Amino acid sequence: MALQSVKKLLTDAYKNGYGVAAINVFNYESIKWAVQAAEREQMPILIQFYPGYLKFISFEQVSQIAKTLIRDTTVPIGLHQDHSATYELALQGMKGGFPSVMIDKSTSPFEENVAVTAEVVKAAHAMGIEVEGELGHVGSANNLDDFKNPNHFTAVEDAVNFVEQTNVDSLAVAVGNAHGPYIATPELDFKRISELRAALDIPIVLHGCSDIPTDQLQKSVELGISKYNIATEWDRHFYNTLKKQMETGGRNAHYPNLLAIEEQMIEFVQSKIKILNPNNVKYVK
Ligand SMILES: [Zn+2]
Repeated sequence: MALQSVKKLLTDAYKNGYGVAAINVFNYESIKWAVQAAEREQMPILIQFYPGYLKFISFEQVSQIAKTLIRDTTVPIGLHQDHSATYELALQGMKGGFPSVMIDKSTSPFEENVAVTAEVVKAAHAMGIEVEGELGHVGSANNLDDFKNPNHFTAVEDAVNFVEQTNVDSLAVAVGNAHGPYIATPELDFKRISELRAALDIPIVLHGCSDIPTDQLQKSVELGISKYNIATEWDRHFYNTLKKQMETGGRNAHYPNLLAIEEQMIEFVQSKIKILNPNNVKYVK
């Protein structure tokens, strides 16, 4: 099945009662693991690339590997560029073959966030590319105030205005979530999620989904969040699994150790796909 529009994939998700895992990939193997998990579960997934890894692999390399692997799947898969901090970086991702990009100016004042996001959207839409914006800054999970203080959460009225003024295709929101390992158990603001879902007619995105308790993730799926960014937990699972394999898998052949953890890495992604599908919805092709 061909590469799927991220907006369509996410809209189908909230209308049919499941969430889509966005897996942060970093090389050929990680893309393959995520794609195989989607294939086994027969549910959509998003291959997502964080530009922080650009010194190791280029936008072109990621997009070409992903498109090659996606071409042979029987379920729809999207390809998305995570967190562009600048207009220029978002355009580099588009040039590098990404059909969907994020522009994140959420630490800037509202007007500046609107202005830069709208410019990215204008350029992107001219080329048939989709854009995720962010409003209400998703901060750091090692700063309690970032995810416990409702003053930092996305205001519903601002979100409506932001979407109207920028024409973004999806919106990342702050509703008690944050990036990285949480120093205290997060508590998602379900009332805010419901209000945002009722007020917006585009998919809603949750960043910082690692270690959010399963019951909270599943309730947020039922309230209509579509996209779930998973990086910290995936990275930790990769480290722990590879470390164990290196200790037990033989000294003189380290590259095969990377290949040997394939099954555990695929199973991790499968477990996330299952969590985000609490009602066991079957994807209809
Ligand atoms: Zn993020």
